[in-house]
Parts: sequence; C-alpha cells; structure tokens
Amino acid sequence: MSEYNDATLAIRAGVRQTQEQENSEAIFTTSSFAYASAAEAAAKFSGDADGNVYSRFTNPTVEMFEKRLAALEKGEAAIATASGMAALMTLGYSLLKAGDKIVCSRNIFGSTIKFFNTYMAKYGVEVAFVDATDYEAWEAEIDSKTRLCYFETPSNPLYEVVDVPRVAQLAHAQGALLCVDTVLATPALQNPLTQGADIVMQSATKFIDGQGRCLGGALIASQEIVNEFVAFMRSAGPTMSPFNAWVLLNGLETLSLRMKAHSENAQILAEYLEQHPKVVKVNYGGLPSHKYHELASKQQKGFGGVLSFELAGGQESAWSFIDNTKLMSITGNLGDTKTLVTHPATTTHGRLSDEEKVKAGIKPGLVRLSVGLEDIQDIIKDVEHALESI
Ligand SMILES: *Cc1c(COP(=O)(O)O)cnc(C)c1O
Repeated sequence: MSEYNDATLAIRAGVRQTQEQENSEAIFTTSSFAYASAAEAAAKFSGDADGNVYSRFTNPTVEMFEKRLAALEKGEAAIATASGMAALMTLGYSLLKAGDKIVCSRNIFGSTIKFFNTYMAKYGVEVAFVDATDYEAWEAEIDSKTRLCYFETPSNPLYEVVDVPRVAQLAHAQGALLCVDTVLATPALQNPLTQGADIVMQSATKFIDGQGRCLGGALIASQEIVNEFVAFMRSAGPTMSPFNAWVLLNGLETLSLRMKAHSENAQILAEYLEQHPKVVKVNYGGLPSHKYHELASKQQKGFGGVLSFELAGGQESAWSFIDNTKLMSITGNLGDTKTLVTHPATTTHGRLSDEEKVKAGIKPGLVRLSVGLEDIQDIIKDVEHALESI
C-alpha cells in the first residue's frame, strides 16, 4: 500500500477481510487456531507454512493493527504489546545482554527510568543517563559497549526536543541502535524512522487510542529487528489483546484529525497561559518563545496536545490550581479527548528521589495539561477560574 498517502493508510492499511466479507475489521477473540490435519499444524508451528499459531504471538486483529501502525510510522514491520511498558520490556530483553550499555536521556517517563535502572541493571546491563539535549554528553557516553541509545521527543512534561539525526549519527558511529519514544507526537506528527532512528516505541494507550479506554504499546523497526521482538513475544508473552488491537486500529483512523485538533487547542491555551501574570513559564513547542520551537518546527508536523506550566508558590499553588478546576479530569494519563490535569512531582514522577526530580527538572510548581477536544473557550474558562483561585 506504499503508493498511498497517510490519510488513506490510516484507514486502509493492514485490512484483512475474511470469507464473511465484512467491511469493518473483525475482532478475532480466539486463543488458538484449528487445522485440517496434523501435518498442517506441524507446518504452521515450525514456520514452514505461514499462518496463525497461537494468539500469544499471532492474531489477525493484532496483526492488522501492527501493519497499519508500521505503514504510518514508515517502518517495515511492527509488534504490538500489552502496554507501552511491555514494549519497553520487549525492547530491553530482546536486544540487550550482560555487559551491554544503554545510554539514555534522563528526561523520560518515570517507569522507563525504573525499568532500565532496576531490571536491566539487575541483569548486568550498564545504564548511563545524559541530558537529552547535551550532544557532547551523548558523544562522551556512547562507547563500543553501547548497544542502545534511548530518548523521548518531545519529552514529557517539559517539552524538550531532541535532534533525532544528530543522536542517530552518534549512536551509529559506535554501532549502537537508536530507539525513540514519540508517544507525545504520535506517527501523525513525527516519523523518527525517516530521521535516522532504528526503532520507534509507542504507548498506544495515549493519543493512538485517544479516548482513554485501553492500554497498548508497540515497537516499529526493520523486519530483521522486529523478528527478534517476535521471538521474545513467543517465549515471554506480553501480548496485546485482540479487543484492544481492534479499539486501537480504529483509533489510528482518526489519529491525524485528532492530533490537528489537539494541537490547535493546546496552541491557544499555551498562548493564553504565557500572558497570565500567575504563570512563571510555559513549556510548549508551539510557542515561538520556547527554547526548542525551531527544532520542533523542523522535525514535527505539529506540536501536539501536551503542555506544562510552572506556578510560583510550589506544590501548594499547583495543588490549589488542580483542585479548583471543574471541567478537566485530575488523572495521570494523557492523550484523551477529555482535558487532563496532572501534578508530575507527586504522581507520574513521584517515584523519583528528590535529587532525580531536580535533575529531571520536575519542579513542585509544575502542572501538566493534556489538552482535550472540548470547546477551547470552555477549557480556558476552567483554567482562568482555577488560576484566580490560587
Ligand atoms: C505512558 C507512557 C509510556 C508507557 O506506556 P503505558 O502504555 O502506560 O505502559 C511510555 N512513554 C511515555 C512518554 C508515556 O507517556
């Protein structure tokens, strides 16, 4: 389907129609598949014949989601996983062994730091953290033992933007692979695989679903790398359920329309916040004043729906703001049609030590908003009222 453009791929790629001739994609809620003969079963299990074996690693609905996502990310193949963290686990356990080194941005999702620091380190993998946008630090840490480089762009919640081709070049010079988490941008706004990355990691839980209904994750890469992930999936089983794959497959159809609308609302809100006297700083790539505006404009097709801002008065102000909102939901999630408000220092980043928080720039007065698709005037009214109440 590579002759088609993204809007078409989002709706048509990966479709696998059955003999029932359904027009909407089917959900295959089956754990196993039944064969005409013992010989056919043997051929499918050994891989001599193509076909479904067992839904831990082959399911037609999950495969439709994988094919469609790979088409949108401009990758050869994809593997779907039970959650974003299951994708990270699949990445780590498939590609790394004792003695290998990961060089990782420290400005990343809290659970990602924990997984690398606790579980990868436990099996003898060395982990070095660098400042995401300090390219000299990347260069200094990436050595011949380095097998994987990893960062998020744009980062959550501070909207730091990392130059993908630049880190890719540093990684490749030492024979390392680069994996980029673009959960905030989604394939609708950025394709790191066309910018030098080897692997993209997605939490489909966020904007790909877009309505906060279910968890999912994925890794997108060359067929050769994805084959390693499939081998791990077959043995370890952090599998996406067919129902979730069906929800997420439908989510992909409207992803680019939703990302456009999220970006428009977030831009208006960021501009509103920036001129408000109680707001110290707004972190959003769409603001010309933002440190990474130029790089984000070059690498991305839009700025997305997540922003954060800093209030004077620390945690007390931040909590007072949050508790005085009426419309938005207080939750740790992001990427929903509903506007969501989060206090990173005590929730998503709450497991970091105080020292780790300082290093990651997670200040007590920081509030994150995942700007939804409600009427922007209603969102602004909610923010205005909550700011006045501090
Ligand atoms: C949510 C998130 C993850 C983890 O995904 P889950 O689906 O919640 O397991 C990883 N990275 C980023 C940037 C996220 O926002």
